[in-house]
This record gives sequence, structure tokens and C-alpha cells, in this order.
Amino acid sequence: MEKIKSCRICQNPNIVDFLDLGEQPFANSLLKGPDEEEAFYPLTLSWCPDCRLVQLNHTAEPADLFSSYIWVTATSEGAKEHARAFYWEIASRAESLKESYVLEVASNDGTFLKPFIENDFKVLGVDPAKNIADRAVTDGVPTLCKFFGAEEARGIIEECGRAGVVVARNVLPHVANLHDFVEGLHICLDDNGLLVVEFHYASVIYQGLHYDSIYHEHLCYYTLGSLERLLNQHGLFVTDITESPISGGSLVLYMKKKAAKEGPIVGTYREVEKTSRVNELDNWQSFAEHVYSHREQLLDILAEITVAGGPIAGYGASARSSTLLNFCGIDSGLVSVIADHNPLKQGHYTAGTRIPIASPEEVMKENPEYVVILAWNFADEIMRILRNKFSFRGQCILPLPNSPKVVKMVE
Ligand SMILES: [Zn+2]
Repeated sequence: MEKIKSCRICQNPNIVDFLDLGEQPFANSLLKGPDEEEAFYPLTLSWCPDCRLVQLNHTAEPADLFSSYIWVTATSEGAKEHARAFYWEIASRAESLKESYVLEVASNDGTFLKPFIENDFKVLGVDPAKNIADRAVTDGVPTLCKFFGAEEARGIIEECGRAGVVVARNVLPHVANLHDFVEGLHICLDDNGLLVVEFHYASVIYQGLHYDSIYHEHLCYYTLGSLERLLNQHGLFVTDITESPISGGSLVLYMKKKAAKEGPIVGTYREVEKTSRVNELDNWQSFAEHVYSHREQLLDILAEITVAGGPIAGYGASARSSTLLNFCGIDSGLVSVIADHNPLKQGHYTAGTRIPIASPEEVMKENPEYVVILAWNFADEIMRILRNKFSFRGQCILPLPNSPKVVKMVE
């Protein structure tokens, strides 16, 4: 794994380390057996004094991470709901879209393109994971299986022309070759087209202590300030911003190719970022302090329950849970099993911490008294399932956001 020598956006060589989450395995590399060998890599963050980008210090080979991807968008009910809301938001902004088409980069299983298809829009997805792209195609969403960059973008416009809407949801943080990727977005976009970019907002990561979202796939943690600099450099200008619940708090930026009239909200975000100092180093150093003390608090809670008899089951073997479990050193001694709806994960073991993963039905059959909701950004949905489907009346541990909490299920 390669260590960067300068900032990923502006190439400033004086980036400053501020957080060390230890050596960790790839979050999505679940094990087939409890004794399978695995590799660990450094997981550390730094901050750039020039463009203010918060970024990972090491870059994994993309082919190792994304060629066979285990995250399937449609496994989350919340994502399907958000896809419909996302459709309406875009359809209300994009004029004369019917004559053009919607291009989604990193379209996963096509969940976000489906509402467009249902409303008679032409669409095209691009995704590098063959297993997921195949699934999208079988499901009726035309999808090219490839990584995306300027060269691929030229190929796409040669074949299909420029797109009236280009969507890049939760992909920019994954991209190592940033300038090439953003150039690709610019190439694909029609001159009057709308570019829509969604990303887990670094201000929310800071305020809610979402350190579990830091893993090898996420190379950059953007604020409006740091991302805008990159986009402007490639002739893309933010005209509006909305918020989305994805990842526990994301921003959606709407962009044009020409500096167009800005909605007032854009200036408000810039101002709030300035007053909250979210782009400054001292802010991120205090984030790091909170991360270390969060680990102590969570381990105290789990140890107390374990001494009192436990056992504790987990819910949601998400990629994010991998960082949390590995950083805190939580293994099957503390959390005996993790429930997950994704059949691709069931029967596997968590990376690094080797906790078995089973279907929710199997896990809840054992009547655990405590459930730690590892996929806490879906806590409402999971608690509803626990209550209604499994009649669970024990207690839930919500590790995040902020300090861990123990919540008694109410009738
Ligand atoms: Zn920089």
C-alpha cells in the first residue's frame, strides 16, 4: 500500500497527521472462516494546510477494493426511499431532460436509476464491480462495467452523447485519481446540464464523531470548502445544496458548467464552515481526542454488560462497523454474533475481529438481551425490525453518533 507524499487535491507536501486508527484490514474483506489469514494496513488521517482537505495517508489498489463489491444499495429500505426522493429533486431541476439521458457514475445495483426508468427517462449506469453491474443489467438498468475517468468519459460521449444529468453519489471519497475523475464528469456533462454530487459531509463526521466512516475505501473527507476548490478547478460551479440522510448526514451539491446564479444556501454553508472552523487543523485534532475517549466509553459499557452475563449480539456487519470493531478491539469475546440482512455476508466472519455473521432470524432466535446496533445510521429501521418482527424487548446499544448510548426498547 502506497503512502502519499502530498495532498490529494493541491499537492502541498506539508500535510499534517492528526489521527491514527491503527493497522486495519479492508473493511469489506469478510473472512470465509475464523482462521483465514488476512492483511492489515495503516489507517491514518492527515489535513492539508493549503486546501484544507482531510484525507487518508495510504492508498490501496482500487482493483483490490472494488472489483467484487459486497455493498448492494437495495439491501437498505432507507436507500430505496431516498432514491425516490432523489428522483423528484432532480426531475424538478433538470429542464428538457426527456430528450437527453441520466448518467450515474458508480451506480451500484441501479437502485437510484430505477425511479428515472419508471418515469420514462433514458439512463446509463457505470460501475466497476462486475458482480453488482451484472445484477443491475439483469434488473433492467443498462450498466457499463468499468472504472470511471476522463478516457472512459470520452468513450461514453462518443457512444451516447453528453448527458443532461450526471450523478455521482458517494463515489468522490473513494477516488484516488481525483483530477482525472472530475475531468471525466465535466466531459460527460451537457453544456446546460446538471451535475449532482452526494458525499458524507465532513462537518457531520466531525460533529457526530462518525469516525467509523473512516476506512481504506474512503480516501477523502470533504467539506464544501475543500470540494469546491477541486470542482472549480475543473470548471464546475456549485449553484445549490440540499441535505440527505445517507451515511448519517450527507450533502448533495448541484452544479453547472458555467458560474451560474447561486442559491443563497451556498453562501450560508460557506459562512458556517468558516465560523465552525471545520476546515482548520485544531478542530480535527480535537476530533481525534474525542475518538480516543469514545473507545474507552464504549468498551466500558460492553465490559459491564459482559460481566453481568451478556451475551451481546451485533446488528449490521457494515463496512463502517469494521473500523469501529477493529479500532476498539471488539471481537467475539464481547459481541458473539452479528446479524445482517445481506445473504452475501451471512456465514462469513468480520475482517480483523472474526465475529461470525448470520441472518437476523438466526441471531434473534437465541433471544439476546442486548443488541449493539453497529449499522447505527440505520438505527430507526433496525429498531423497528427488532420490535415488530422479532418482538425484541431487551436493550439496544447505539455506539454512535457521539457518546455511546444504551436504549431500552419500548412496547
Ligand atoms: Zn491540499
